[in-house]
Amino acid sequence: MGKVLSANLGYPRIGEKREWKKALEQFWAGKITKETFLETVKTLRLSYLKKQKELGLDLIPVGDFSLYDHVLDTAVLFGLIPDRFRTDEKEVSLETYFSIARGSKNAEASEMTKWFNTNYHYIVPEISNDTKPYLTSNRLVELFNEAKEAFGIVAKPVIVGPITVLKLAKGYDQDHFRTLLDALIPLYVQVLSELQAAGAEWVQIDEPILVKEQTEEDLALFQDTYKAIKNGVPSLNILLQTYFEAVDDYEKVVQLPVDGIGLDFVYGKEANLAAIKAFGFPKEKVLAAGVIDGRNIWKTDLSTVLHELKTLLTFTGGNDKLWVTPSSSLLHVPVTVSNETELDPVLLNALSFADEKLKEIVTLANGLNEGEAAIEAALQKNSADLQALQQSAHRNNKEVQKEISRLSDELPARPGSFKLRQQIQADTFKLPPLPTTTIGSFPQTKEVRQARRNWRKGEWSEEQYEQFIKDETAKWIQIQEDIGIDVLVHGEFERNDMVEYFGEKLAGFAFTRFGWVQSYGSRCVKPPLIFGDVSWKEAMTVKESAYAQSLTKSPVKGMLTGPVTIYNWSFVRDDISQADVFNQIALALKNEVRALEEADIRMIQVDEPALREGLPLKEEKKAGYLHDAVYSFRLATSFVNNDTQIHTHMCYSEFDEIIETIDALDTDVISIEAARSHGEIISAFEDFEYKKGIGLGVYDIHSPRIPSVDEMKSYAERALKVLDPKVVWINPDCGLKTRRPEETIPALKNMVEAAQEVRNEL
Ligand code: GLN
Ligand code: ZN
Repeated sequence: MGKVLSANLGYPRIGEKREWKKALEQFWAGKITKETFLETVKTLRLSYLKKQKELGLDLIPVGDFSLYDHVLDTAVLFGLIPDRFRTDEKEVSLETYFSIARGSKNAEASEMTKWFNTNYHYIVPEISNDTKPYLTSNRLVELFNEAKEAFGIVAKPVIVGPITVLKLAKGYDQDHFRTLLDALIPLYVQVLSELQAAGAEWVQIDEPILVKEQTEEDLALFQDTYKAIKNGVPSLNILLQTYFEAVDDYEKVVQLPVDGIGLDFVYGKEANLAAIKAFGFPKEKVLAAGVIDGRNIWKTDLSTVLHELKTLLTFTGGNDKLWVTPSSSLLHVPVTVSNETELDPVLLNALSFADEKLKEIVTLANGLNEGEAAIEAALQKNSADLQALQQSAHRNNKEVQKEISRLSDELPARPGSFKLRQQIQADTFKLPPLPTTTIGSFPQTKEVRQARRNWRKGEWSEEQYEQFIKDETAKWIQIQEDIGIDVLVHGEFERNDMVEYFGEKLAGFAFTRFGWVQSYGSRCVKPPLIFGDVSWKEAMTVKESAYAQSLTKSPVKGMLTGPVTIYNWSFVRDDISQADVFNQIALALKNEVRALEEADIRMIQVDEPALREGLPLKEEKKAGYLHDAVYSFRLATSFVNNDTQIHTHMCYSEFDEIIETIDALDTDVISIEAARSHGEIISAFEDFEYKKGIGLGVYDIHSPRIPSVDEMKSYAERALKVLDPKVVWINPDCGLKTRRPEETIPALKNMVEAAQEVRNEL
């Protein structure tokens, strides 16, 4: 009885060729008027709706489109805006909206942070204890009407739920949570009633917080909240949507007083599936089954998933109680593969971006409604495409696979203990106390970027470009020597991006032309694809490092990106385990570390700025991830001689959950952020009694400001109260590629002077 429906949870905003980004940036730069801007984004928004309609989806979202961020949209909808942006107007103007996100002349922007464990960043709602939520203007009704008028679509409006919004917000005391929630509920009811009056049949309320640990009290809050909402709009259907993991308390969540529950059967597959088998599923509710990966770019194995959906059907109250959906919004994947013309067909045919995923969803729903025979051709092509990649040489590098299978369980270890290495390295390098260094990159000026473009376009020869890089390196070696920095870097002028640079030189990687995804605001990233077995082909960094070292008597650090960061900032094959991919990358990097050591580069930094962000959402999965991360890092680095110094760098300050991991990496020196967190960070290392080298990021490179000698001194002095001066280094908190030389040089001079003055006090 009834039909299985196909539904989308959210569509990418940025456009096939980043038209959205361009419109935003033109508007911000004052190059187009507000009217033109709003017209342009409306055209885009409508084209996305039209496309989804043409693909044959039964339920199309509205409200997923945003001019910046959907969490900001929700906060603004309910008047949850920071006091410094308040005006007398009830409505929040477009200008204010963008100011909250980006800052204005008079007021600092709101913070942004990562959306769960994705690489998307949302604007953190700022609420104070006496914030009074109110409805600004119901944009969801406008968007709903727009879809209806333009295409006759009865859309499914999407909104972030009140509990997730409040839990992600900051600035209020926990004992005000209930008051704020009680104030929000009637406003949600009002929004939903207006939607219902406009003709909406279903709304999707996203409560991804439900995949995090929930206490009894939290679940009671959910019960009360949705009971109140449902009472307010009894005849509107509510889909409570979760994603990115299995729900924490399946039994309670599926009993919440709503009409449908959306579950992630990709990232939370095992646990959600086990729960449904153990506890069943309420017959009167819709199960929105997130079976298509909303965060990765591979084709779904359709026949396997069709089989899984049939299993799920046995638990629902009928066909009309099952929806086929992506596992999350498709915001996290690029728009379409149809513009990719330069990829190896065997790879191209195995890719599925947003549009192709929606096609898969429609195909699966058809398969369930009309029988497998109706989609036979699609199933066959799908399985042939996936098999072709699986059987291709890319995924069958016997040598790599043999090496991986031979890895022992034991953690790879340096020949000598840290204590021994510390002594040997002190004798080798003879550095002063509190040695100064930088994180790797120096300013990527207009000239540097222009040179790279010239070379890429073939306007410059290989030699010409190489000479340019050499000259730039030589210039900055001289600058570093003049400033008096102790450990130098070559400057990374040859690198566009710290992952792409390596991806382009290793086997197993590919790069799309238009595979962009939104990172934050108008900023998009184009992650590399790790699609095959990864292996090292030739030295990637030796030429540049060795050249820099030839120019100076001071040690020059070699610069590599670590296996975990390369993994976390790429789209990665999902046919082998995360640990296996980490280790494949690590084995490739090991060759590079060896090549550097052989070229007499005696300090080697392996950056892992993305180590922490890969932490799984579920507590019980964290230890496994961290173990695999440590293993791969050590696989790449630990075989070096005791007198080779291994550095790493992480540009953040939250180490509480990972301090043991940091220690287990067994690096000789780690450089971290300290200035932005006002030295807070040091306490984590103090509590842990961290004994190895620590480079303090006393210079916040994220601001054009030039920090004073005294300011930087104060961080160093503070650290020396708790850390052994023998282990402390002084450095900026990240690479300097985004800074201008005019900012960089004086700031580094101050930094060296600060180190000098603190040294004199020792
Ligand atoms: N070595 C890199 C650089 O200096 C590190 C960048 C990072 O941590 N994000 O640019
Ligand atoms: Zn950094």
